Amino acid sequence: MDDYRKIPLRANKHIGLVAHDGRKRDLLEWVIFNKGTLSQHSLYATGTTGALIQRETGLEVTRLRSGPFGGDQQMGALIAEGEIDILVFFWDPLEPQPHDPDVKALLRIAVLYNIPTASNRSTADFLISSPLFSEPYTRLIPNYGARMKRPSFLVGLFEDSG
Ligand code: PGA
Repeated sequence: MDDYRKIPLRANKHIGLVAHDGRKRDLLEWVIFNKGTLSQHSLYATGTTGALIQRETGLEVTRLRSGPFGGDQQMGALIAEGEIDILVFFWDPLEPQPHDPDVKALLRIAVLYNIPTASNRSTADFLISSPLFSEPYTRLIPNYGARMKRPSFLVGLFEDSG
């Protein structure tokens, strides 16, 4: 298993919530339905999504910037820092987004860091009903050491500190 880094996920999960405008109702309904479970975890959300959840459910949410104004990138950075354990991201398959590159980047980072990610309600239902949702879990991340080899004159400048 030397080829993997092991990242422990806490029992109290830090959950990232993001929904495009066309999917906000869907996400809100899911949050309301699962309010009891979600209240035992820590919620993070992009600006408008978070405001909606706070207003409609009273749940505590750490709000980032609005998605098109950097919120998706903030969420991605939190995943890279190990602050987010699970991502529920209801992106809209029917509408182009002005921040499409940020959307793609967030989804890429979620895969790279092996974060459980739900993009629709059925997947979110499966995720939240898993026993692992409320238990400690060890996330494995491929050790990208070989992929991160740099030209010799750059060695030392870009050590992988993660
Ligand atoms: P919002 O951002 O929660 O601020 O609407 C979501 C997004 O478009 O990524």
